[in-house]
Amino acid sequence: MKFVPRRLERTAENSSGKESWGDKLKNLVSVVGVLAVLYIVIGLVADFVALRISEETEAKVFGPAVSVLQSGSAPPEFELAEKTFDRLIRSSELRPLPYRLAYWDESMPNAFAVPGGGVIVTRGLLNTVTNETALAFVLGHELGHHQHRHTLRGIGRGLLISLVYNGIFGSTGGDVVSGTVKLAEMRHSRHDEREADAFGFRLAYASFGNADGYLEFFQNLRDEYEHPDTRWLKFMNSHPPTDERLDALKKLRERLARGEP
Ligand SMILES: [Zn+2]
Repeated sequence: MKFVPRRLERTAENSSGKESWGDKLKNLVSVVGVLAVLYIVIGLVADFVALRISEETEAKVFGPAVSVLQSGSAPPEFELAEKTFDRLIRSSELRPLPYRLAYWDESMPNAFAVPGGGVIVTRGLLNTVTNETALAFVLGHELGHHQHRHTLRGIGRGLLISLVYNGIFGSTGGDVVSGTVKLAEMRHSRHDEREADAFGFRLAYASFGNADGYLEFFQNLRDEYEHPDTRWLKFMNSHPPTDERLDALKKLRERLARGEP
């Protein structure tokens, strides 16, 4: 290794208390680097814990969450969603959780899974998805997030990140950072979406024996995604309907139609 002597003028500059732009940049890069490593480590710890929590503990700790989030009295369309949901949760494939469908009085179409077995659907979703098989796919997809513990892992990450970042930045700065990170966490990773799709599709296919409704629904979603003023924005931001997901679903349908696992 070649020895590079430190340049004199730089030492002088440091002693005068001034930092060059280069040094400032270096400091910034190392801070960002440390935060990035921290973020990855937190993710690994959260996953480690989330994958080991028993269904009993999950239900006990998070079970009440769905009741807290429920709002307004459900419209008649909720009945079809409940009927569809009840049929899906009869499957023995599912992790043993107290599954419950709840209603949220919100005009934006949206559906999401809450740890502890809860699935929430909004008024907007019920008004838009009226086809039973498409509903089965949407609900099955959310059950897929439960099956693979995606929501549990997301919550774990969010909690740990706010704890750690509050410790680093103090409560105000930490709140801003953790708030931003949490928002980002609302969006499941592409990998999680593919996993939830495959699970939901198989579950809906096994329960209803028909797949065309879901593909048509997904194709419509994909087409509408092109329009930025769509009412679907909230749902689609957390579940981007990509070509890749649609292709994977089509392939899965072909496989299931051939009777392959
Ligand atoms: Zn999803």
